[in-house]
Amino acid sequence: MIPATGFAGKKVAVFGLGGSGLASAQALVAGGADVVAFDDNAASVAKAAQAGVATADLHGIDWSKVSALLLTPGVPLTHPAPHWSVGVARKAGAEVIGDVELFCRERRRLTPNSPFVAITGTNGKSTTTALIHHLLKSAGRSADLGGNIGTAVMTLTPPRADHAHVVECSSYQIDLAPTLDPRVGVLINVSEDHLDRHGMLEHYAAIKERLVAGVQQDGAAVVGVDDEWCAAAAERIAAKGRAVIRISVRKRLPEGIYAQNGEIFHASGANTWSVARLDGIGSLRGLHNAQNAACAVAATLALGLDAATIQKGLRSFPGLAHRMEQVGRKGPVLFVNDSKATNADSSAQALACFNDMFWIAGGKPKTGGITTLEKFFPRIRKAYLIGEAADDFARTLDGKAAYEITGTLDRAVVLAARDAGASGLKEPVVLLSPACASFDQYRNFEVRGDRFRELVLTLPGIAPVR
Ligand code: ADP
Repeated sequence: MIPATGFAGKKVAVFGLGGSGLASAQALVAGGADVVAFDDNAASVAKAAQAGVATADLHGIDWSKVSALLLTPGVPLTHPAPHWSVGVARKAGAEVIGDVELFCRERRRLTPNSPFVAITGTNGKSTTTALIHHLLKSAGRSADLGGNIGTAVMTLTPPRADHAHVVECSSYQIDLAPTLDPRVGVLINVSEDHLDRHGMLEHYAAIKERLVAGVQQDGAAVVGVDDEWCAAAAERIAAKGRAVIRISVRKRLPEGIYAQNGEIFHASGANTWSVARLDGIGSLRGLHNAQNAACAVAATLALGLDAATIQKGLRSFPGLAHRMEQVGRKGPVLFVNDSKATNADSSAQALACFNDMFWIAGGKPKTGGITTLEKFFPRIRKAYLIGEAADDFARTLDGKAAYEITGTLDRAVVLAARDAGASGLKEPVVLLSPACASFDQYRNFEVRGDRFRELVLTLPGIAPVR
């Protein structure tokens, strides 16, 4: 744990005790702050009290004594409307911050030059974060990862000059970190998402830009320039004198890092050289992963890794669970778990990667269904439709690809495995990429993906991939 010493002897209110909130409260207590914490969920409050954190309904406290309100990223700071506690805190002159801000302040106090990498973007955050961490670890560096990817940042190793923190930041976390100053900042991409929380795309993009705009003077801002928002952000940051490393998977860059035909190039001045190849790396299939990999390559080059070490690390990247995760092989058949694909856009990334697919799709439908995926239908040998969306998906597929309404995932796996095995194709793929939320049949996409993995690994003759 990292004790947050900046509020020693001061009163701090903490709202939101699920996930990272409790860790922040404990870090503040360990750093000597007088903490009072609360949550709308009584069980979370009880858990905090049990962990030795003082709790009280924040409606009833004397806010004139409060120096800061520590907010959990899930609680609205601005859109659609600020949480009531934000209004009260601001009126009382208390600052409103989150756990990433606590981390930044403690790092500046302890070792302002430590290798702190912060990553954001609309898509690919977790993959890029995990990949950067993996590249550093496989190069023999001391590193840990946290933030939005799952481990609360204040539970990580205290900042040290020779220890890297690789931290995934959601927009909410950036919004609550006014002095976010990574050594290497990575902005992968910006597209229209989460607009409900941030109001306008401009506001959402501006928040994400802050992560890279704030990089330390001698650090580097890694920015994917394939969308117009990020391209403009790169210009603004460069104009302020920061080192910007531009990333593209769509065009050759005169300066920066770009991917072309599965190879990552570094262009600088008059020279362009190949840094790494992605072909044959099953965990990094697809153009979207080339973007993630190019960002990770740029970040690790900036931290001093050499090309050969990076190439070796890329080859051993196991990938993340539920994101085109290779689960097993049975003869020529590859089984892939892409349960994280909860909408058609995400499934498109997976469907673009394979030639002969036995596709398991469906669940709780999203607006638009799978009509946007039509261009992939010629490569779908058969679809196995599950959950509430099955009838709608069947209508879209009708006459364009073979399908069967199997209802459950359990039945779909058995039938898809049988058909793929009997297909005589060179590398048939049984792909779970539902293009739907899971809530009609599963608690979340992780439980759905875990069930898929479990079903696949009990098939007779299956060889696990990892
Ligand atoms: P995030 O953490 O931003 O949600 P993940 O790394 O968990 O992103 O990937 C989630 C899904 O988003 C993947 O399964 C894939 O469908 C899609 N994705 C990943 N990287 C990218 C990218 N660079 N561009 C577009 N889509 C991506």
